[in-house]
Amino acid sequence: MGLQVNQKKRKFDVTSEPRGHVARGKGNRYVIQKHAARRLHYDLRLELDGMMKSWAVTRGPSLVPGEKRLAMHVEDHPIEYNSFEGTIPQGEYGGGTVMIWDRGRWYPEGDPHRGLQKGHLDFMLEGEKLRGRWHLVRMRGRPGETKEAWLLLKSKDEEAREPGNPDILEEKPLSVTTGRSMTE
Ligand code: MN
Repeated sequence: MGLQVNQKKRKFDVTSEPRGHVARGKGNRYVIQKHAARRLHYDLRLELDGMMKSWAVTRGPSLVPGEKRLAMHVEDHPIEYNSFEGTIPQGEYGGGTVMIWDRGRWYPEGDPHRGLQKGHLDFMLEGEKLRGRWHLVRMRGRPGETKEAWLLLKSKDEEAREPGNPDILEEKPLSVTTGRSMTE
């Protein structure tokens, strides 16, 4: 799902989100935007081929290995979108507040194109909040389903947490760029 889908969904005279373009180069930026749309979710974005591959993680990431979090694959976003923090007007596509919850770099293990195709992506995150090894695994879809459902999972490593330990989403709820809360 490409940038044109992204641009068609938005009215750029109404929303302050960046329109963006396909960038050159081989960057590996990573960002998670906390998005209070109709339902709060966390948008995970991984840079690949000048675009941000994107998944809407409905309950947000968990540091507990084996704790599966549903991640709906959504359209690619432009790299400029990574720095967007603010409010999309109500009634517009994705209306609600967007916060930059985490950012940094990601490091795929193996060929990420192959991983995306086969529906299993292993990677390292070097963010300010999320670090260590993670997996994205595509679930078998029912015929006729347009949106792909994936699962986001933490691997067992020194960055993982035991069940019952503090939830990173509650422990570190603020923006990594501005230190603001969602209401601010
Ligand atoms: Mn979103």
